[in-house]
Amino acid sequence: SLGPRMVKEALYTYVRPEITHSPELLCVSERALLDLGLDPEEAKTEDFRQVVAGNKILTWDEDSKEGIYPWAQCYGGYQFGTWAGQLGDGRAISLFEATNPDSGVRYEIQLKGAGKTPYSRFADGKAVLRSSIREFVVSEYLNAIGIPTTRALALTFAPKARILRERMEPGAIVTRFAQSWVRFGTFDLPRMRGDRKLLRILSDYTAEHVYGGWDKLPSKLPEGDINTTYSKIKTGIAKNVTEGEGLDEENRYVRLYRAIIRANAATVAKWQAYGFMNGVLNTDNTSILGLSIDFGPFAFLDTFDPMYTPNHDDHQLRYSYRNQPTIIWWNLVRLAEALGELLGAGANVDDSVFVEKGVTEKQAEELVKRAEGVIDRCGEEYKAVFLSEYRALMTKRIGLKIFKESDFSELFSELLDTLEAYELDFHHAFRRLGAVKLEELGSEQSRKDVAGRFFKSAEAPRQEAESRQRIAKWLEKWAARVREDWGEGKDAEREAEMNKVNPNFVPRSWILDELIDRVEKKGDREILSNIMKINLNPFQESWGWDEKEEERFTGDVPKYKGMMQCSCSS
Ligand code: AMP
Ligand code: MG
Ligand code: MG
Repeated sequence: SLGPRMVKEALYTYVRPEITHSPELLCVSERALLDLGLDPEEAKTEDFRQVVAGNKILTWDEDSKEGIYPWAQCYGGYQFGTWAGQLGDGRAISLFEATNPDSGVRYEIQLKGAGKTPYSRFADGKAVLRSSIREFVVSEYLNAIGIPTTRALALTFAPKARILRERMEPGAIVTRFAQSWVRFGTFDLPRMRGDRKLLRILSDYTAEHVYGGWDKLPSKLPEGDINTTYSKIKTGIAKNVTEGEGLDEENRYVRLYRAIIRANAATVAKWQAYGFMNGVLNTDNTSILGLSIDFGPFAFLDTFDPMYTPNHDDHQLRYSYRNQPTIIWWNLVRLAEALGELLGAGANVDDSVFVEKGVTEKQAEELVKRAEGVIDRCGEEYKAVFLSEYRALMTKRIGLKIFKESDFSELFSELLDTLEAYELDFHHAFRRLGAVKLEELGSEQSRKDVAGRFFKSAEAPRQEAESRQRIAKWLEKWAARVREDWGEGKDAEREAEMNKVNPNFVPRSWILDELIDRVEKKGDREILSNIMKINLNPFQESWGWDEKEEERFTGDVPKYKGMMQCSCSS
């Protein structure tokens, strides 16, 4: 039966997508085809169109009842800080796994919005066109700028689906793929049900199949000051850290937990460096692999405002820009609670009493208590990985080669404070800094002139004299650091390096709104593929499309269209 139900002692159910009538394939991501190892010609076939519409199951033979049957995953989650029970996946159905023959990377391909599953509760299992366009575009964008994310292969329009949200809306299906769709919420559910056996199976699965084996997980916790260990690595990339001699009591679930910590710390650091907000960082929207996942009311900053949340319903600013690192840690602590017994067991984790009979309530309490010490230590590691990743990215974004401790306050913070104070564009600031030449910064006056490039072109700058002075002062310090790292006469090389990390195009809320309007209301079918050209190559200067349009989409945010908010209904 496909009726809503609670599922016990299992984390998925076989279910097939509903039939979509008159599906229209709106767009395919060229990059996704490549990464899946698919021939672009394949995307033009009728088979492909029917598969991404949920109408054809390639891997299942109806006559012999053999093959791979589609399935939906089951998970729970903490939503806005409160345990919300079993809640997903009510509208994502996985079709099969596929391994790219060249890269060897395995992906799970699924359809979002293809109809009800046993986990749909009282909802319709569908997704509206507007939110599907947003997810399709942002998944591929985040990947293009190097932020770990779930991906999008295809966007299918379902014109016959009339979906009731705030109004009647047309539907769509996003074909998405990821190395894993397991979330923290997948662990929350068996934990809340006290299903220890399932938790252990899930943990083993995650280590062996998602992380590629126990031997791929980090070894001992570094000893002493973790921050010092990490900052020893000049580039600050956490995975290059040499492990110190550490806790004697390391068990393999601690190592798994630490891998999950590292992945998530690195991803949230990248969100912060690029001004991206998920908007609903519930535990069911937090990936076990540290992928950006489940895009609802997400947004990029336009101006730098740390208190900004893209989520219209987020009155407490729980999911605001500045709160993201804290919230991901909050979610990680919930995960540690789910893994509590395993983390606290130390070397005893394989003891037969633990494995076969489970533990008594009293023993469990003790284990969880011992796990608390591990969690504290892991918290230090989370901070260290976050900081080293954030520093490394910000160092590159402002065109330096080596991070110096003083850069944090003098360059990073002062730049962000200045952008915030005068409501300057966050993304333009980095891109335009790349084009500044050292010899342009020779005098106070010339620095003040250069400062003008950080203003909007179509609007009078805020407190012009004051802001020019402050930016000029920053530029002077910056120039000194650039000289230190690069020497003289390296403007072109530095600009080229900066242009590799500072995108020219960002899919801001106003752009997505215009895109949706043109596709949905105006029946424009070309705009999507044109925007995707830019979206997949956001570091380029131009794209050979329409000069005026390219300029508009990379230019000033139109008046009253900055820092927009979005509702959760999708
Ligand atoms: P979200 O807040 O979008 O992350 O949604 C939380 C969960 O609610 C998802 O994992 C889905 O399983 C479920 N859900 C959201 N919208 C629908 C829908 N239209 N039909 C069925 N389930 C839904
Ligand atoms: Mg292995
Ligand atoms: Mg979700």
